[in-house]
Amino acid sequence: MSHHPTIAVVGSGPIGSAYARLLLEGLPDARVIMFEAGPQLTARPGESVRNIADPDEKARARELSQGPQAGDHRESLGIPAATVVEGMFTARQGTHLFDFGGDGSAHAPTFPAAAGATNVGGQGAHWTCAIPRPAFSEKVDFIADDEWDDLIRTAEGLLHAQSAAFADSAVGRGIRSLLSEEFEAELPDGYGPSTLPVAGDPQPDGTMRWAGADAVLGPLIEPGDPLADRFELRDLSLVRRVEREGDRATGVTVEDLRTRETAFVPADLVVVAADAFRSPQLLWASGIRPTALGHYLTEHPVVISTVALDGERMARYATEDELDAELARRATNAADPVAAVNRIPFSEPDHPYSLQVMYSETTPFPMDPEHPLATNRWGYVNMGYGMRKFPRYEDAVTFDDAELDYRGFPNMTIEYELTDREHAEIDAATDRLRRAGEALGTFVAEPRLMPNGSSLHYQGTMRMGAADDGTSVADPWSRVWGVDGLVVGGNALIPTATAMNPTLMSVAIAVRGARKAVEGLSARTAASVTA
Ligand code: FAD
Repeated sequence: MSHHPTIAVVGSGPIGSAYARLLLEGLPDARVIMFEAGPQLTARPGESVRNIADPDEKARARELSQGPQAGDHRESLGIPAATVVEGMFTARQGTHLFDFGGDGSAHAPTFPAAAGATNVGGQGAHWTCAIPRPAFSEKVDFIADDEWDDLIRTAEGLLHAQSAAFADSAVGRGIRSLLSEEFEAELPDGYGPSTLPVAGDPQPDGTMRWAGADAVLGPLIEPGDPLADRFELRDLSLVRRVEREGDRATGVTVEDLRTRETAFVPADLVVVAADAFRSPQLLWASGIRPTALGHYLTEHPVVISTVALDGERMARYATEDELDAELARRATNAADPVAAVNRIPFSEPDHPYSLQVMYSETTPFPMDPEHPLATNRWGYVNMGYGMRKFPRYEDAVTFDDAELDYRGFPNMTIEYELTDREHAEIDAATDRLRRAGEALGTFVAEPRLMPNGSSLHYQGTMRMGAADDGTSVADPWSRVWGVDGLVVGGNALIPTATAMNPTLMSVAIAVRGARKAVEGLSARTAASVTA
């Protein structure tokens, strides 16, 4: 008898979506059921909320993504009416703090800005879409360069990578030229100031259609496409456990948050891509507890600032007429304040950090109208460095079976500390940020180090490794050590110290995992056909 494999994917962000797409493309008889704890926000599943033009609709979509901090929407999302106390600060729009301070809140005093998004598309419905390639020691040393390049190119295809976004912007050209004057001589060839690769599709009118999980899912959400018939996305469906028989995963237990009913869904393969905190939490809750689970947490310390661009210096590279033309074109799309995006990428040995420079006509905060730069004809850049954190066992999320969180999972405690090694690189990068700001104009917000957790780039908590030696959770193909039929995905797999935005790398790792899973499931199907 032939066997049609069923794959359960937990989480609908870019990584779960990459698995769904590649598994369905690779396995002509397979079916994928994707479970997402949050609601579907847009008619097209997983679309970036940045593409929503109407400001009220956009604000509503963001609030719906905020789980325990979703205000009046909370009950409709199946979230118990816990007392939510706002913390010292709130999370970025569309995300919710894990340590939100109310009943069932996680404990993260040393990592207070830790946040997630709970909605179809995950954080990928809210992200900035920057997708630089990992380089030098950011890469994983047990994947050969040829294969890695192919994985990255495949990942860029899935994410609709655009390496020259806004390349025709005269303001962007001016910013790059001034940064090159300042830094080019001290950087390796090919790693100087350049346009930042982003995920999205430029539109004929010069705007961007930002890519979310919808871009990655592609044909799976095109009505009438044959792949769409074998794909099912269930929103407001919380996976409570990965079930096992012996050392093999057999499926997932899922709670329908609309009806509160719980059911077991059998699967030949379970893919957990539920972010770098909630994936290890789900494994822990399922009794799958490798020594490294939740440990080796890293992120990017972030130093940010805002600079008013200097007209005289910019005028050396762009004319007033070009500026007028650009402002006129942009006025037609006021909904999206981001225009030119530039960067200085990570390189070794002397620039092991990553600078991101976003041009905007306004500051992201209200400025005192009396300030001489409160209105600035050439506009502003929001500019920041991402630095690396070196992995250590003691930086970790741990789980407490005796204290449940607001969803009834073993509660999380995050412990994290920056050491002298990180502080040295933070200081060096902050000096460069000052130089960059002085090259471009005048600071209207001085460089400042953001609270731990602010990067939203959480890595390492389910790291992949070459050997099952206690320092990794998954093998080089993202399969959890010691559990057949269980694959994990997301930034949590990244074992190295990085400074680049991590999603491209995580999709590349997922491409490798999905290819291996296709091989394994094809072999199993063939064996069951001949049996
Ligand atoms: P997520 O996108 O986090 O999706 C995980 C999903 O799993 C969530 O929807 C969650 O609800 C769901 N889930 C969790 N637990 C369960 C469960 N038990 N059952 C069912 N579902 C569950 N990255 C970059 O590379 N470049 C950027 O420029 C960038 N900018 C960002 C800006 C913002 C404002 C934010 C919020 C993020 C940004 N990121 C950026 C990070 C990027 O969005 C993430 O790297 C990416 O979304 C990770 O994808 P994922 O699929 O692993 O997880």
